[in-house]
Formats: sequence, C-alpha cells, structure tokens
Amino acid sequence: MRKKIIAGNWKMNMTPTETKELIAKLKSGCDVKDADVVFVVPSIDVTTAKASLEGSNIKLGTQNFYFEDKGAFTGEISAKMILDAGAEYVIIGHSERRMIFKEDDKMINLKLKKAHEAGLKPILCCGESLELREAGTYKTFIEGQIKSAFDGISDSDAKKTVVAYEPIWAIGTGKTATSEEAEEVCKFIRECLSKIYSNDVSEEIRIQYGGSVNAGNAKELFGMPDIDGGLVGGASLKEDFIKIVNYKE
Ligand code: PEP
Repeated sequence: MRKKIIAGNWKMNMTPTETKELIAKLKSGCDVKDADVVFVVPSIDVTTAKASLEGSNIKLGTQNFYFEDKGAFTGEISAKMILDAGAEYVIIGHSERRMIFKEDDKMINLKLKKAHEAGLKPILCCGESLELREAGTYKTFIEGQIKSAFDGISDSDAKKTVVAYEPIWAIGTGKTATSEEAEEVCKFIRECLSKIYSNDVSEEIRIQYGGSVNAGNAKELFGMPDIDGGLVGGASLKEDFIKIVNYKE
C-alpha cells in the first residue's frame, strides 16, 4: 500500500512574515497521520517554515535548486544548502520552470541525480501541453520525459522519487483533468516505470496528480487506483488545503 502524499506548491508567494501567518492557520488542520503532507515553500521561507512547523508531522520542501555543488553560479542555491536549511523534498521539472526558465530534460535529469545524491526527496513533474493532448500524442511525450528524467537513476533512488503528473492545460486554469483522464496517465506512467525498472519498483513509486486540485475534486481524484495524492498550487495557500488534506472526510 502506497502512502498518499499531498504537497502544496506555494510558487512565488508568501514572504517569511506571511509564511508564519499562513502556517499558523494551516498547521493543526493539515497535521494528519495517514498521508504525507508537504508544504513546498520558496527557498527564502524554509528557515521560517521549519520553525513554524515544529512539533507537527507536516513535511517541508522547496521548489528549486541548481545541480552543481558550489561555486560561481550567482543567484543559485545548492541541494546541500536547502537540505541544511531544513527542506526534505524538492520539486524538479515543474512546467513553469521548463517553460519560463527553459529547463530542459538534460538539466532535469542532472537535478534528479543531484537531489538523490544529496539526500533530498524529489517530486518530479511531467505533463503535456493542450496542443499535445489534442493531437493525441501526449503519452509518447510523457514517456519521453520519464525516460530522460530517470536515465541513470538506480532502483532504490527511483523508489524514493515522487512523480507528479501535471497536464499543463490544467495548471492554474481551474480546468481539472477528469479522474478518468488523470488515472489513465498516472497508470501509463507506472507502466513506463515498470518497463525501465520492474513491476515491483514501479508499484512502490508514488504518483501524484496536479492541476487545479481543490476541496471539491480531491476525493474523487485521490480515490483512483494509480493516483497517490496531489501536487496542489493555488488551493494550497488557502484554508481549502485543510479540506484537501482531509479529503476522505
Ligand atoms: C502546480 O503549481 O503544480 C499546480 C498544480 O497548480 P494549481 O493547483 O494552481 O493548478
């Protein structure tokens, strides 16, 4: 049985002061035992969030790092830095980073390797554009993203990777994939992982759905057999996130 993982991607929102306030509102309602709940905050907020989450089971993540260990990379932060600051999880390959910051499959693979080497738990995002969805070629595209990201990743590190299926057309648009559409692709991703590794390994990897998850659709989505939780953007900044985390009720 895979434990559900529900992560809130705060994106570029919340100052350290606002982080303290938001965590004070969400902390007790999001502190559940039957799922891993992760607050994925901007790097500048990690230290404040760590202190604010003290005494709860809520886990902490951040949204980016650079794959080199140290050196002349002005403006970047390393895996070791975010880990030392208190982050346990890190998002890799979010479509906003692929599109706005031009991160390619090669860089995403290097980041996945570095995250594991450093001991961070990566949440690896994949997902197709509306154009590919309408052209019917989305599965081939996603298989390519998965193969490239996992290139050179060992069985044991693969098992520790969380995959987030995030169709780009559903991110921040209010247009959620139906539970059947989301399940179809999450199941397909598991099949791809099974071909790269084995059935046993792929059965252990947690696969989330992300894209306009809200308090009204979480229960149906997370109830699907291959959907092991969600990566939540907009709704993770509101008290709605408490309802999402407690989706069974
Ligand atoms: C995301 O940022 O990963 C995301 C899924 O955003 P939203 O829930 O707002 O669509």
